[in-house]
Amino acid sequence: MGQYTQDGEWNFKMFMLSLWKSRRKDKDSPTPVQEEPRQYLEDTLVAESIAAKVDFEKLVRIPVNIDRNEWLATNTISFFEHINLMYGTISEYCTPAGCNSMTGPGGTQYLWFDEKGKKCKCAAPQYVDFVMTFIQKTISEESVFPTKYGNPFPSSFEVLVKKIHRYLFHVLAHIYHAHYKEMVTFGIHGHLNTVFKHFMTMNKEFKLIDEKETDILDSLCRSLEVTEKLADRDQTEDKENIQGATAATAVS
Ligand SMILES: [Zn+2]
Repeated sequence: MGQYTQDGEWNFKMFMLSLWKSRRKDKDSPTPVQEEPRQYLEDTLVAESIAAKVDFEKLVRIPVNIDRNEWLATNTISFFEHINLMYGTISEYCTPAGCNSMTGPGGTQYLWFDEKGKKCKCAAPQYVDFVMTFIQKTISEESVFPTKYGNPFPSSFEVLVKKIHRYLFHVLAHIYHAHYKEMVTFGIHGHLNTVFKHFMTMNKEFKLIDEKETDILDSLCRSLEVTEKLADRDQTEDKENIQGATAATAVS
């Protein structure tokens, strides 16, 4: 199985290999589960992670001398690729008949808004296709995700990053809600938990997704010990440090 190395990179080759193997071995996998028993919260399954020793809080922080937008861009592209790959492993089980709407835990149903703002209730595979096409198009635009030296990020960059993360969250919510059983059958739920924990720690650090949106997987965040509001914690720490320094000054 692949794993995070010390500098936080995927051992990607091994990871791809394991996914490929797992896709080959079972052609008679069960149909998608759509009822609410939340298998993904079972202790033994929650405990599955391929990166138990990685400090995700440190991993998501901007390295010294790296531009914030560059950091957000790199991570956004990486999450897109990993989540797209995760969905790809179960996509043949996510059919218009089996998943006729884009569902998430707790009765959540996502509706797609097209470019003209028109609401459309579509099947999950179609919704995911809209999401992935939108993200692929957005990250390929030089004017939005600049790759050439000197090309600036647009003022709307962070708004677009937030939109991408919100869509990726919808895909994760659907996988956990409707296809977790297949992930377990393929033995890649540990990878899914790891990607999810990394993704959610990043979201909390940079406040990329509204909490109202992520509430539906709060219990999973707690089980996976995703740290809450890192920025707020930092402020508290800073305050304590200042108070400590003031107290020390007063004593001396
Ligand atoms: Zn589905």
